[in-house]
Amino acid sequence: MVFSPSKKVLVVTDLDGCLLDHHDYSYSEVLPVLERLATFGIPVVANTSKTRGEWLAMRDRFLNEAAFVVENGSAVIFPDREDELLGSSREEINLVLDSLREEFHFETFQDLGLTGVIEHTGLAKEDAILASEREFSEPLVWKDSAEQELRFCEEIARRGLTALAGGRFLHVLGATNKGKALEILRSYYGANFVIALGDSPNDVTMLDRADVGCIIPNASSMPLLVSKAPRVLRSEGHGPSGWAELMTPLLDELSPQS
Ligand SMILES: [Mg+2]
Repeated sequence: MVFSPSKKVLVVTDLDGCLLDHHDYSYSEVLPVLERLATFGIPVVANTSKTRGEWLAMRDRFLNEAAFVVENGSAVIFPDREDELLGSSREEINLVLDSLREEFHFETFQDLGLTGVIEHTGLAKEDAILASEREFSEPLVWKDSAEQELRFCEEIARRGLTALAGGRFLHVLGATNKGKALEILRSYYGANFVIALGDSPNDVTMLDRADVGCIIPNASSMPLLVSKAPRVLRSEGHGPSGWAELMTPLLDELSPQS
């Protein structure tokens, strides 16, 4: 038995491709598991690349009022205290980006405007508004060569920022990651046993720092993720089905009946 009553458990999870289906954003399979977690009093924290507004608009569906992490580890938002900024402000990031515009070709979310964001993401207007309300990062559409992209990422790092390749965009954010945010949450919740769930390379820093790293296969054909967590579990299923597949036996271990 892995769990004991002295274990103070915390669940930290990515959203897209984990708690939410990558394609149709369905999530019904995780609801019974979330109910069990609530019965055990185990908080479930979203650690996402999404904005504050995007998570606030959807978290009621998951009956979730826990702290959460936005924009790839840029800030931790608490229910009862001030936000903790780990990254940089969007204004600072855009100053750096403006200084690189002569050398590199790209368009930012700010350049695209709402219509452009809708075109590039296929999101409905209300969702595109929430996705555009970024506080700590700037997504870019890359319009230059792959070689230039490598040079750009080096320049970004030299200026103390991070460039993260996502599905459609290159995200520029402060010198932070999801793993740094996990440490803040561990201490906020006084947890001594953290289960993290992720499906993408930007989740690896968080999976590495968990006690159980749960890897859900990605919808795109990325190489298999590896994690330095002491215990690593991999699901067969994708998205919410993989999430439930891994969490159910972990909760059975926790259950007093087992
Ligand atoms: Mg994901």
